[in-house]
Amino acid sequence: MKTNHRIHLCLAKMSDNGMEQRYIQEAFQTNWVAPLGPNVDAFEDALKRFLSASVISTGADRRSGEISVNDVYVAALSSCTAAIHIALLLLGVKTNDEVLCQSFSFCASANPVVYCGATPIFIDSEEETWNMSPELLEKAINDRIAKTGRKPKAIIVVDLYGMPAKWDELESISHKYEIPIIEDAANALGSTYKGQPCGTFGDLATLSFNGNKIITTSGGGAIVCHDEATKKRAIFLATQAKEPYLHYEHETIGYNYRMSNISAGIGRGQMTVLEDHINHHKHVNKLYRDLFNTNRTNNTNILVKGNPDGDFDSNFWLTTILFKKEFDTEAFCLELDKAGIEARPLWKPMHMQPVYKAAPAYINGISEKLYKTGICLPSGPWVSDEDVKYIVETIKSLMK
Ligand SMILES: *Cc1c(COP(=O)(O)O)cnc(C)c1O
Repeated sequence: MKTNHRIHLCLAKMSDNGMEQRYIQEAFQTNWVAPLGPNVDAFEDALKRFLSASVISTGADRRSGEISVNDVYVAALSSCTAAIHIALLLLGVKTNDEVLCQSFSFCASANPVVYCGATPIFIDSEEETWNMSPELLEKAINDRIAKTGRKPKAIIVVDLYGMPAKWDELESISHKYEIPIIEDAANALGSTYKGQPCGTFGDLATLSFNGNKIITTSGGGAIVCHDEATKKRAIFLATQAKEPYLHYEHETIGYNYRMSNISAGIGRGQMTVLEDHINHHKHVNKLYRDLFNTNRTNNTNILVKGNPDGDFDSNFWLTTILFKKEFDTEAFCLELDKAGIEARPLWKPMHMQPVYKAAPAYINGISEKLYKTGICLPSGPWVSDEDVKYIVETIKSLMK
């Protein structure tokens, strides 16, 4: 078996009927070529409706009626990294503060802590979701208070690869110690936990529309707030913190983080295919699971990550697999690359990154083991059933 095309992890895919281009054209025709305009407003509104409607459509009642359209306020920004930065500023994170952050993630979850002059304190994962361990989180909070005499300022939790974190446990720790949570839902638009959509957990949440995510604006992100004043403050900070005078009065340091009306046009078009993309990612994950499990001899060597139980409904942004033993995952991915398959080792935890070697960390060995035994596989909207079959065959034959 051979493939005549390269199979990517997750490439952007536009709607078949060209909605993205239509909204961009509209922006040109009306001369809304600026970091504000009708596409920005409409994209925010579509996200707001998606995040609140999915609660209703799954019949969830985790917060029984607590999340309604009126509880979700979305501000579109230039990236998810910018959104996390703004979220930290909204929570008052300053120089010398400490912020607890999931270690098993992409660097963009942690870097904005450093932009604020604060110190990230890394927390390891638990085995079921691979996200922040509630147990270690509580231990770290108590230890930081004992060591520094001060509470950490915020907690950054990630729904990695689309898998929702253990929100009940994490939110109850957040309430108990009164430390706010930022949900980094960059991977998890369309995922739910007990029926509640990812992107609505914690005090503030962030989304990514980078080119490799579940939908794209070419590059972009958003912050999700729970009241209008917070959304307004987010936009204020993201548009250079201009006080309401004509002469540009500044009392605060601001940033240039707003989304362009052109990018938002792409996002608006992408919202029409979001459900299709989510269904496709889930379909691909199921196909991987079925195909890896048909051959009983391989079945014991590879674990395809699925939902831990019915409370978790991942969008499976990327399907991930674990091998039974530690081995050179980097070399294995290079072999797959020769066969035309883009694959990647799982995220190298932040506490193992040279740039963060001085940062305190609360570790149980789980994320390091995941990093050493797992890879992620092509899962995006361009990946066909034939591609998945080819990938599974290739991996099985390489393992012999
Ligand atoms: C992609 C990603 C980000 C950053 O998103 P950008 O929009 O590219 O800034 C943050 N966190 C996680 C987990 C991501 O995968």
